[in-house]
Amino acid sequence: MKREIDINEISDGRRYSLNDMVKADCQDCVGCSDCCRGMGSSIVLDPLDVHRLMEGTGLAMEQLLEGYLELTVVDGVILPSLRLDGPGESCRFLTKEGRCGIHAFRPGICRLFPLGRLYENRNVSYFLQVKECSHKNRGKIKVKKWLGEPEAARYEAFILDWHYFLLDVEAAVERRQEDAFHRQITAYLLRLFYLTPYRKEDFYGQFYRRLKEAGSFSAAATGPADSEASLGRLTDPQDPRPASEE
Ligand code: SF4
Ligand code: SF4
Repeated sequence: MKREIDINEISDGRRYSLNDMVKADCQDCVGCSDCCRGMGSSIVLDPLDVHRLMEGTGLAMEQLLEGYLELTVVDGVILPSLRLDGPGESCRFLTKEGRCGIHAFRPGICRLFPLGRLYENRNVSYFLQVKECSHKNRGKIKVKKWLGEPEAARYEAFILDWHYFLLDVEAAVERRQEDAFHRQITAYLLRLFYLTPYRKEDFYGQFYRRLKEAGSFSAAATGPADSEASLGRLTDPQDPRPASEE
């Protein structure tokens, strides 16, 4: 989700990378669930989030959408987000005890909090949100450890490629200015990246093959300008197989 903000107003002014130490460790957030309430539709899910939710809950995407998720327009593209509703505008996964009911497979934005992601010059870094988390005595922790991702570098590359791919889609939709095209590409992306389950093993390999396929779709639908913008970076450096294999 794009936000045009002055980073110095909401952070400590520093940009952190995976190996930096940051004061983010809320020590299990005892007694607090502030960031699981009142966040609107801002907790947007990427394909890995949904893959993990489907694996962790045993629910299909359609079932998740019926109970726990909703579809949100994000920068012109329709994406799933956590559904926060009811009197306290609480996440549907928040338990009565105020704990996350899906802690082991909660979405990336939840795992990251109170850090946020900053995209600049085709790189991603992290910033500490100083106004969002009320915990006073946060401990220092390495960003990589806080993320808790077993393949942190690969995860970061995925986050980056997904972000810039969505920007390319948004640009293509704006250029075309056609409702029919918008509907077509939105339905296609939802089906390709979210509704079609991934196999348990090697999410990233499967994701990059789908990304390549989406680039071909974009090329056919929009012409060379968009295809050049999308296709150049749609390969997983760790996966030598061609896009058609899955
Ligand atoms: S606001 Fe901070 S302390 Fe409270 S649940 Fe969120 S991360 Fe934990
Ligand atoms: S998924 Fe868990 S951590 Fe994220 S908002 Fe919901 S209850 Fe909170």
